[in-house]
Amino acid sequence: MEKTKKNLKSIGEFGLIEEYIAPEFKDLVKEHMTGIGDDCSIIPVSKTTSHIFTTDMLIEKTHFLRDKITPYQLGFKSLAVNLSDIAAMGGKPVGSYISIGLPKDIELSWIEEFMKGYKALSEEEDVPLLGGDTTSSENSIVINIGVTGEIQNQNIKKRSAAETGDIICITGETGESAAGLQALFLDLPEDNKTKPLFEQHLSPYPHISEGKWLAKHKDVHAMIDVSDGISSDLMHILNASSRKGNIDLEKIPMTNALLNFCNTHQIDPTELALSGGEDYILLLTIQGEAFENIAKNFMDKFQKPLYPIGKIEDGKPKIAYYKNNQEVENIRKGYTHF
Ligand code: ADP
Ligand code: MG
Repeated sequence: MEKTKKNLKSIGEFGLIEEYIAPEFKDLVKEHMTGIGDDCSIIPVSKTTSHIFTTDMLIEKTHFLRDKITPYQLGFKSLAVNLSDIAAMGGKPVGSYISIGLPKDIELSWIEEFMKGYKALSEEEDVPLLGGDTTSSENSIVINIGVTGEIQNQNIKKRSAAETGDIICITGETGESAAGLQALFLDLPEDNKTKPLFEQHLSPYPHISEGKWLAKHKDVHAMIDVSDGISSDLMHILNASSRKGNIDLEKIPMTNALLNFCNTHQIDPTELALSGGEDYILLLTIQGEAFENIAKNFMDKFQKPLYPIGKIEDGKPKIAYYKNNQEVENIRKGYTHF
């Protein structure tokens, strides 16, 4: 990429990382390490195992609105979105670190509830809090979390491992979280219709068990978690693997809660399912012939389907969307900062 553009908006989040950050440090990254470019960095510690690490930030007004999420939910979600990146590698989380910037006037009960939510997921996944940092912040709440994990070297699932003929699949439905966000903006009350959407948006559960299980299969090739939407996150796999992806729009699973919400509010459910973001499911590619067997065992293990939504092909990195075997143009892409 040429350094000709003037401001951050013109190059975007990924342009910034690829053009201004990653190249500057490439030479310092030792040969055995994997740095910027995947869901976690990887540092091998022996012939058989590696340490993995990930960090993600949540900023008030960018990632959450203080009056639209309870502190308990925010504590839970802050850890969940980080554990999701450990899940994306197929790893086991070992410990977490939290750095927080808090306005001076924040109520202690808010912090107490926040930590209760953080602890609930820590206990559920048996991940201790090991450290962090605390500072004051002028107005906004700033949260940065880091999670370390471990993984057997042979189980590591990178974004760059997709192969031609692989089936693209997802470990859960998408779009509900984005619908939940819209429902929050519309100030809709919690009822039977909105509850699953709010839950998905405010308290996503990271697919750690699914990731660890999938990672044990050598026919599972590339894996990523879906934070910016299927389209955007599949593009990361395609770019890293230098392959093209076909998505069959009819195969994108959609829940009744999503369909009903979109019907009522005249929103295209496909758009939310493809590019809404914050789903925190896993998107992976599986060797063509191995898919059926792995999907059957996945169903036995987790009592839910592994949804096939498309195929990896030879070709320049791009996604082709199909409906009734016809290619469809003008599909909106995922969320990007700036
Ligand atoms: P994810 O959504 O999985 O958390 P991101 O899209 O945020 O991943 O980041 C993509 C890659 O770029 C990751 O490997 C991440 O560690 C790296 N990255 C993001 N921001 C920075 C930064 N400011 N400095 C260094 N690396 C970064
Ligand atoms: Mg990720």
